[in-house]
Amino acid sequence: MSIYTSVRSCRLCSSKRLKKAVPMPEIQLTEKYFMTREEALNNAFKLPIDLYVCQECCHAQITDIVKKDILWGDFTFWSGQTAKMREHLLDVATWTQKFLVGKDKPHVLDVGSNDGTFLKNFPSEYRVLGVDPAKDIARHANNDGVPTICEFFDRDIANQMIQNHGKFDSVTCLNAFAHCEDMNEFFDAIKNVLKPDGIFIFEASYLLDIVNKMLLGTIIHEHMSHHHLLPLCTFFEKHGFELFDIFNNDYQGGSVLGAVAAAGQHPMSNNLKNALQKERDLGFSSTNYFSDFNRRLTQLRYSVKSSISHWKSSGSTIAAYGASRSSPTLLSLFGIEEMIDCVFDDHAQKQGKFVGGQGFPVLNTKMLTEVMPDFTLVTAWSHLDVIIDKNKEYTEKGGKFVSICPEFRVI
Ligand SMILES: [Zn+2]
Repeated sequence: MSIYTSVRSCRLCSSKRLKKAVPMPEIQLTEKYFMTREEALNNAFKLPIDLYVCQECCHAQITDIVKKDILWGDFTFWSGQTAKMREHLLDVATWTQKFLVGKDKPHVLDVGSNDGTFLKNFPSEYRVLGVDPAKDIARHANNDGVPTICEFFDRDIANQMIQNHGKFDSVTCLNAFAHCEDMNEFFDAIKNVLKPDGIFIFEASYLLDIVNKMLLGTIIHEHMSHHHLLPLCTFFEKHGFELFDIFNNDYQGGSVLGAVAAAGQHPMSNNLKNALQKERDLGFSSTNYFSDFNRRLTQLRYSVKSSISHWKSSGSTIAAYGASRSSPTLLSLFGIEEMIDCVFDDHAQKQGKFVGGQGFPVLNTKMLTEVMPDFTLVTAWSHLDVIIDKNKEYTEKGGKFVSICPEFRVI
């Protein structure tokens, strides 16, 4: 039995006119770690991750969808794990609250609420509820005082929520928005749990940043959609709703927050008007916006692979820094998995294990100056500055950090 299925129609507009826009090598699933090297080598889950563009609405998406229990079974991402993430979620909570001014004891729901870090930012008079399918993470949130239902959010769970908790003034879906397999069913469930004047807030990596800044690390099996605003406007309109405000931020290299309500309730903000015009001006209202990206990707792949192959054949040791979700994409995309000796990572639950399919060990980041690899590729690319700052001893002793995404640079 296959562990993935291929969809044939656009996730937003249901058109069957999907065209492969970025051919990718098959990529190892993220977050798969094993106790022995042999086990890791025998458990290669390489799956297709080509990017497609809908020829009707221009939405960018992947069509090969990994089964839910395999994709999410080993989920290890915790919202509260970095100060940067906590600060970002505080900003998003502040942005959300501006739409709830004047409401009495606002009732807010967060879909994909993770460890509850986001919901903790709301004032005590708010009534908050989270829903998240990851058992350990949801248990932690509940123990930490954030009421959390441990389920995938869908139509049935939405109905149960209405019965047990009533409807909501706002529903947020942040990182989980790009994870939606069936957007129409998902948004029907969202509409159902919202009060008539309720607001839906989403956040996703922004396609224009992915394309323009080469944010390759965002291309992972969990991200089924790579959103921009023009197709989303059409999608929400089809559901009788309107996107009326947005806020761009630099989370994960470039993300967009959007506010959505039933049609006719809010005027369109200038931020949104300007962003839509920019998308049209930069060619994102037509379907070939990946063509220059593909050209730059070919060049980047050549630079990375030829340099690292040269270092390796000259006897240098090569490590990666960050057993992150983007690590398999970057290593496979550049064809350099075989050249990696080990990966350093902060998370105790990964240390001492071996990376699935690739078989190299995950070591504690504290061992970096002991092992002293000649070159260390920063696969946790969005934390590049923090990593360099934290590991001055390594560079002082002659080690070299290397950025491989969004640009190739020896530091
Ligand atoms: Zn479409």
